[in-house]
Amino acid sequence: MVSWIKFGVILLSSVSLMMAVISIPQGKLEQLASWHALPTVRICSNTPISEHRVEEALDFWRALGYEFGTVVYNDETDWCYGSTYFGSIVIMPNQSPFNGQTLAQTQRVAYNELVVGAKIEIRADSYDRPLLLEHELGHALGWPHYNVKGHIMHRALNKSGENCKGLKKS
Ligand SMILES: [Zn+2]
Repeated sequence: MVSWIKFGVILLSSVSLMMAVISIPQGKLEQLASWHALPTVRICSNTPISEHRVEEALDFWRALGYEFGTVVYNDETDWCYGSTYFGSIVIMPNQSPFNGQTLAQTQRVAYNELVVGAKIEIRADSYDRPLLLEHELGHALGWPHYNVKGHIMHRALNKSGENCKGLKKS
């Protein structure tokens, strides 16, 4: 049997607290892939992020027209043990040490332009950091970095903000 994951493209994006190199803003923000089904949002039981933080981050994207399926707290299913993230956005602690200033990273599994799963790993001191989950959910929904100061998809958290220009669901 061939694992489905071999056919997927895994994109890895991480967000850092600060960036040593100044990024040149991209001209246009383009969604790389999107969900065609409502993703189940799974917060693994070993992930002490507050429900308030999760809801706030989901509401950020709902306001832009995105929808989510069931939100499962204290999840202990296989999704939280790395066997699959099919159909879900799974939120968990980092599974291996992050380098230096990385606070979180998202792996998005997509077939061409269709997102079929995503895993968001968050560093232990950063679960409740404002805007962090919003940013990672952006990756899970198919958005790349957009290094304009104040934009939610800026790759450096200290240069990001609530600006959501260009992210509205089309
Ligand atoms: Zn990022």
